[in-house]
Amino acid sequence: MLHNTVDGPDGRWNVRRIAAAAAEKTYRCPGCNQEIRPGVAHVVAWADAGDGDDRRHWHSSCWEMRHRRRPGR
Ligand SMILES: [Zn+2]
Repeated sequence: MLHNTVDGPDGRWNVRRIAAAAAEKTYRCPGCNQEIRPGVAHVVAWADAGDGDDRRHWHSSCWEMRHRRRPGR
């Protein structure tokens, strides 16, 4: 699967963009704590240093804004 690698102040992340047609489930966005409904294009991100267990689905806009509003850990 194709993904991009992005470097940020919180480390290196792998990011995959999910097209609307490929979004078939409802996910909980860690950025805004709202649902990402089927049919909504969004992103999946996971830490490059991890093993993929921290993979999360984000609204595209929430992912871009994550440094302003971080999820709790
Ligand atoms: Zn969101």
